[in-house]
Amino acid sequence: MPPIKDLNALIQNYIKLNKVMVFSKSYCPFCTKVKDLFKSLNVEYKSFELDKEENTDDLQNTLLQISGQKTVPNVYINGNHLGGCDSTLKAHSDGQLLKMINTTTKKYDYDLIVVGGGSGGLAAAKEASNFGKKVALLDFVKPSPQGTQWGLGGTCVNVGCIPKKLMHRAAILGEEFSDAKSFGWDVNTEVKHNWETMTAAIQDHIGSLNWGYRVQLREKSVNYINGYGEFIEPHTLKVTKKNNKVEEISGETFLIATGERPRYPDIPGAKEYCITSDDLFSLPYCPGRTLCIGASYVSLECAGFLAGLGLDVTVMVRSILLRGFDQQIAEYIGQYMQSKNVFFHRGVVPVKIEKLEDGNPGKYKVTGKNTSTGDIVEEEFNTILIAMGRDPCTAGIGLEKIGVKLEKNGKVICNDEDQTNIPHIYAIGDIAKGRPELTPVAIQAGRLLVNRLYNNSKTLCDYINVATTVFTPIEYGAIGYSEEAAIDKYGADNIEVYHSNFMPLEWTVPHREENVCYAKLVCLKTEKERVVGFHVLGPNAGEITQGYSIAMRKGATKEDFDMTIGIHPTCSEIFTTLNITKSSGEDTAVAGC
Ligand code: FAD
Ligand code: NDP
Repeated sequence: MPPIKDLNALIQNYIKLNKVMVFSKSYCPFCTKVKDLFKSLNVEYKSFELDKEENTDDLQNTLLQISGQKTVPNVYINGNHLGGCDSTLKAHSDGQLLKMINTTTKKYDYDLIVVGGGSGGLAAAKEASNFGKKVALLDFVKPSPQGTQWGLGGTCVNVGCIPKKLMHRAAILGEEFSDAKSFGWDVNTEVKHNWETMTAAIQDHIGSLNWGYRVQLREKSVNYINGYGEFIEPHTLKVTKKNNKVEEISGETFLIATGERPRYPDIPGAKEYCITSDDLFSLPYCPGRTLCIGASYVSLECAGFLAGLGLDVTVMVRSILLRGFDQQIAEYIGQYMQSKNVFFHRGVVPVKIEKLEDGNPGKYKVTGKNTSTGDIVEEEFNTILIAMGRDPCTAGIGLEKIGVKLEKNGKVICNDEDQTNIPHIYAIGDIAKGRPELTPVAIQAGRLLVNRLYNNSKTLCDYINVATTVFTPIEYGAIGYSEEAAIDKYGADNIEVYHSNFMPLEWTVPHREENVCYAKLVCLKTEKERVVGFHVLGPNAGEITQGYSIAMRKGATKEDFDMTIGIHPTCSEIFTTLNITKSSGEDTAVAGC
């Protein structure tokens, strides 16, 4: 039997979600009288038959706490308690009943206003409309300092996952051309890449996605407003449209899902001459010799596909590669990228950028400083891509004015239910503090939140053990703890690491590099070797990792992995046969498949 606290929420939700709510018992003649009255008046009502539930007494006691009335029928109109059968009939004979039902105008323009039409906002708005809610979704893209703008769908669709993965694919195809020769394909014509053709094709696809989102919102009767939202009161937004027209809209509940934008360093020339991932995917010309500043997901992925397309690429690294990821694997990625002609400036930060020549691309001088020696590095590039992190879009949208608590870095502080300190305002996706900044996380959080708000659900978004993949030239899939984070949390004595190199069969015939692909399981000895860290470095790591994330959610142990029969010949089967422990010091190199 659920605790009383839950019954309270259940009853409150019934009251909140239904204009006319009758708590009733199916055999009670007074309840029937009231329901018949509503039927005769053609009034839509919701009844909750308490006698059909297992915990009728608890429900009645809860109703007593909420309304001061234990008996049925117990009638609510527009959230206000009317009373039992006598009160309802009296209200009718006094001519008040229909007035109460019909003249109580809705207090707000919308049940739910979603600010931000990216991964999280779109998912939440569409889901809310499925529950009959009146929903508005605002989306507005401020142009980047270089003037780049895009359509509905947010970061992932326009300037993130989608164009990034397609450009990664373009780069992988280049490698596959040379593999193809070994398999007998005659590819003797000169293989060249055309940036403009690739970019146009990818932007066409993105255009179709933008359009698709607009159609979906229309079909679901979500009011899409291409405007910038700013709170002026806790329930009211000022909306500024493209033509500078301003309107005000009010909502009962708000969801903030405004995402993040690239952070620029405060150095001369950064905003004037550099681009970010916001600009790269629609750049109308080939970027040429490129410097990527930063050493995390965005920088390494972009550096990887640009080098794969044949460009001369350098990465400027302040400290380590891929902070937060398993550092052994991060270093393997660095070595692999170096072998694919990506140059790394380690321990260097940018100091200034100067323009040398105009053009598409132009030419720029970058001055960097070694963080330990203070030495100055100067180099010329055609394009400088800044990928030094992203800032949440929470400044200047009135959150402070209405008292929503933010972290120093602008992230919104939420409880486990994605609710801010202002009860009718929620936040999901990249702007929410402590959540993985990934598209599927934002989508899942949005859907689950709406189900909690409008469908009596209690399910919270599980932000632990979220699988992710870094789409560098050799892909890296990870779930759970890195080796060093596991040691930090559980102590080195409690951790066993199983690992091995592996060779994809398809790499053997073209004689690709041996012992660059790698698999690692980090296991917790004190819990029957439960796997707390999964890491794979190799082709299609994203595809491999997804399935294992279910096993990790279910608490799979090393024995579960061992007892699973592999699929041969695949890369993924390596995880069913890992038998070298790191503590043994045995060599993990493999020769051939
Ligand atoms: P967003 O998708 O950023 O959407 C927010 C929207 O709100 C934007 O359209 C914004 O313009 C709008 N907005 C902001 N302020 C206002 C306002 N005041 N009024 C109206 N509208 C406003 N994740 C993955 O899972 N896999 C990947 O491979 C991956 N690759 C990535 C590659 C790059 C280069 C980048 C930058 C990110 C990548 N991500 C990836 C992360 C992913 O894109 C984000 O986690 C995801 O888009 C976050 O969704 P969101 O709904 O929080 O915000
Ligand atoms: P991150 O915040 O992850 O990394 C920022 C990088 O910039 C770090 O390498 C950091 O170095 C460096 N940096 C920061 N400040 C400076 C400075 N002043 N000088 C020099 N270097 C600096 O940001 P990203 O933009 O790469 O990624 C943002 C998020 O987007 C990710 O966390 C991820 O969740 C998401 N994303 C997901 C992808 C995927 O799923 N495949 C792909 C791309 C993005 P240091 O380590 O020294 O601090």
